[in-house]
Amino acid sequence: MEYDIVIVGGGILGTALAYQLSKHIPGERIVVVEKEEGVARHTSSRNTGVIHRPFYLDPISKGKFARCAQESYEFWKEYAARKGLPWREVGTLEVALDEAQLARLKKYKAWSLQNGMGDSEVRLLSAEEVREIEPSAWCAGALLCTTDTAVDFGAFTRALRDDAEERGVKFLFGCEVKKIVEKKDGVDILYQRLITPPTPSYLKRGNFAEVPPLRVRGGEEGLRAHYMVNCAGGAALKIAHLMGVAREFADLNFRGEYLIVEGESARLALRNVYSVPRHTDFPFLDPHYVVRVDGRVEIGPSAVPVFGSYAYRGVGNVLGKLTEKPLANKLRLLRNPEFLRLCGKEWRSALSKDAMVARVQKFLPDLRVADCVARGTAGVRASLIDRNGRFVPEVVEAQTPRSLHILNYNSPGATGAPAYAADLTRLISKL
Ligand SMILES: Cc1cc2nc3c(=O)[nH]c(=O)nc-3n(C[C@H](O)[C@H](O)[C@H](O)COP(=O)(O)OP(=O)(O)OC[C@H]3O[C@@H](n4cnc5c(N)ncnc54)[C@H](O)[C@@H]3O)c2cc1C
Repeated sequence: MEYDIVIVGGGILGTALAYQLSKHIPGERIVVVEKEEGVARHTSSRNTGVIHRPFYLDPISKGKFARCAQESYEFWKEYAARKGLPWREVGTLEVALDEAQLARLKKYKAWSLQNGMGDSEVRLLSAEEVREIEPSAWCAGALLCTTDTAVDFGAFTRALRDDAEERGVKFLFGCEVKKIVEKKDGVDILYQRLITPPTPSYLKRGNFAEVPPLRVRGGEEGLRAHYMVNCAGGAALKIAHLMGVAREFADLNFRGEYLIVEGESARLALRNVYSVPRHTDFPFLDPHYVVRVDGRVEIGPSAVPVFGSYAYRGVGNVLGKLTEKPLANKLRLLRNPEFLRLCGKEWRSALSKDAMVARVQKFLPDLRVADCVARGTAGVRASLIDRNGRFVPEVVEAQTPRSLHILNYNSPGATGAPAYAADLTRLISKL
């Protein structure tokens, strides 16, 4: 089997890339290799489901994420209308609890304009103005973004797949890439056929079936392509390391957990309510009050340190993750007492519903523990750590002559996927 471009990973990014490549470079033979039985089975369906407007993104340190979120907004809006996909413009209230946070909201207003948002999309509100629109929210002031929108990124990804397939892209499902050999005239991709066993009943609890562990179905098979793009999400760094690139980076996984809210507590606010992040050097936010696209309310996500990209329950493979190379990056991070303190706080929220709810009660004091009835979806992010033991704020692209690796593609990556995939398409078309 010979192709022009192979994309590893059928999450929202790999699928959006297949969509953009087939649209802008017609005639290329493109294949997406995905280990699950369909697209968007991992992070791309296991997220907060918000089309984030880029008011909170620093245009310097998170410039790419900000630009792509801004450029993708109109694409998604038009695409949802054309495909009949749900689009619920709920809006977000970002609440400040003290003077320092109020100052940060002023910065957000300036960033929103620098990132290309309209002046009327983002408004700073006094505490009294907040009480008029969200009487249950407690704060010293807030920022209201009217255009943050609840969507179903899984449904978006499935629609992009259909369009890409219509233009001739091939999707190979149930195939896990195991080995890649780069040669002068192409890349050989070796993959193992897998089978998804029926989901055992203990994994079906909650509102979202867990992804069961895959089983090997056959021996190794292979394909050859002229160029490979690694969009494997949580496994992207491992694949890059297999090819000897991005060796300066390590990664750690953080599980975002949600609680489903019902009863009176599900009527506390009409829109999403977020608090201003306090630890911007780390991937930790206090959980938010989130209105999903179907109207359900959840609080979350937390950011519980786990040891594996697919550790949707438990802790994952501690030894395997901690001994991955390079060790020095993680060791430097683990010497940071603030990081360890925040990890402890996240684990407390994972183990105790009361602790999780208490974090949201700081700005929604009437939220009741009894109304948080069940665990919602959990999603895992892989955050890149550099040699100094610091988290990398931006998406990272690593290259070899015949491959491109997309690393650290975290939030708001689902929002920005169409524009970022268009960037990658331009880059690939120049090769
Ligand atoms: C808790 C949480 C909340 C979030 N909320 C939001 C939000 O509200 N808005 C937003 O814009 N973003 C949000 N994000 C971020 C967003 O979900 C991600 O940026 C995005 O989904 C990443 O997409 P992806 O395609 O890179 O990765 P993935 O969706 O993980 O896709 C990667 C794919 O590669 C496949 N794969 C891996 N290894 C192999 C292999 N060896 N062979 C073949 N296939 C392989 C996997 O099976 C997977 O399907 C959130 C993330 C988390 C964790």
